[in-house]
Amino acid sequence: MKITAVEVHSVKVDRELKSFSGTAGTPGTFVGMSHGKHETDYGWTKEYSTLYSRKVESLMVKISTDTGIVGWGEAQVPVAPEAPQAIVRQVLTSLLLDRNPLDNGVLWRQMYNSLRGRGHRDSFMMDAIAAVDSALWDIAGKHYGKPVYQLLGGACHDTLPLYYSGLTGSTVEEKCACAADAVRQGYKAIKVYIGKGIREDIAMMKAVRETVGEEIELMADALWMYSVHEALRLAVELEKLGVGLFEAPIVMEDVQGHAQLTQATKLAIATGETERTRHQFLPFLKARALDVVQPDMGRTGISEGRRILELAETFNIPAAIHMAIGQCVYFGLSSHVAAATPNLLWLEMNPTALEMANHFQREPWKVENGRLKVPDRPGIGVDVDEEKLQAFYC
Ligand SMILES: [Mg+2]
Repeated sequence: MKITAVEVHSVKVDRELKSFSGTAGTPGTFVGMSHGKHETDYGWTKEYSTLYSRKVESLMVKISTDTGIVGWGEAQVPVAPEAPQAIVRQVLTSLLLDRNPLDNGVLWRQMYNSLRGRGHRDSFMMDAIAAVDSALWDIAGKHYGKPVYQLLGGACHDTLPLYYSGLTGSTVEEKCACAADAVRQGYKAIKVYIGKGIREDIAMMKAVRETVGEEIELMADALWMYSVHEALRLAVELEKLGVGLFEAPIVMEDVQGHAQLTQATKLAIATGETERTRHQFLPFLKARALDVVQPDMGRTGISEGRRILELAETFNIPAAIHMAIGQCVYFGLSSHVAAATPNLLWLEMNPTALEMANHFQREPWKVENGRLKVPDRPGIGVDVDEEKLQAFYC
């Protein structure tokens, strides 16, 4: 089998601005930043320091072969997918054409090595590799007639345990109403975005705890907003509310700070969505600076994501796989890796994002009772509605 074509597209889908605040990727209040003639979809949120888009942006890769088998891959790129798009077009495509797509390990190494010596071994480079890598796994699954989770060794979980992410609403009351609805739908775990100041965070977590009761697992994501000292002060209060997991408490570069937090609190300290390779996770694991790893398969790809998860398992650390906002291929590939992950605690699920993603696949995915069944169709198992998707190619 030979690769005959590599298509790569930035996809930008309008989202309902009403649900802007509270959905994954945009947990704050959006403030646009167009300047005169310089129009942009990007803007800040009042509460956080990360740039966001008015649209749902991601990178879609479609690889065709001489057998007629086509594979889809997607990278989670909420801002500037044009950057990895250029890398796929100008660097990776020539490495891939006429090669056997089943040699995905060989091809991964060649792609990673291609610009490694220039220092491009993270960030948009890895996003580009991630999208291609996942498309190669989709091809392999379709070729062997097996779902990707089976090529990864089989399903460790019949259905995937999900946590509800991205409570909608801009007030505490609205978020609590959404949390109550999540419990009614059968979710056993809910994540709340905090990081708005210790007092405000405690009030929010307290209100959600009172709404959902003691049986629901609560998680808090501070989006890297605190110093170690502040995070410690907050952790004491979150412990009292029975919060189980504290995500992104401090900036992602501070390994020692994470280690300090991990030792000082009973909350599970978790981070990792920004890291894309095992080399980036290793210092955290060696320093025992994390209780839970959170790699994002839309940034690591299936191959490197698996290596990270196995590395974590080697250190006896469980995983809550990060799955933010993207299109159906992203949801599909993340779910297959999650199914094949023995040390899986949770897979993140933003129901608003899934609803948007379902729009582009012929057979929508359904969450039942807070769990997801991964389809056993060959490959990633996502029947992409290309005609609908094309309207959003940039
Ligand atoms: Mg997060």
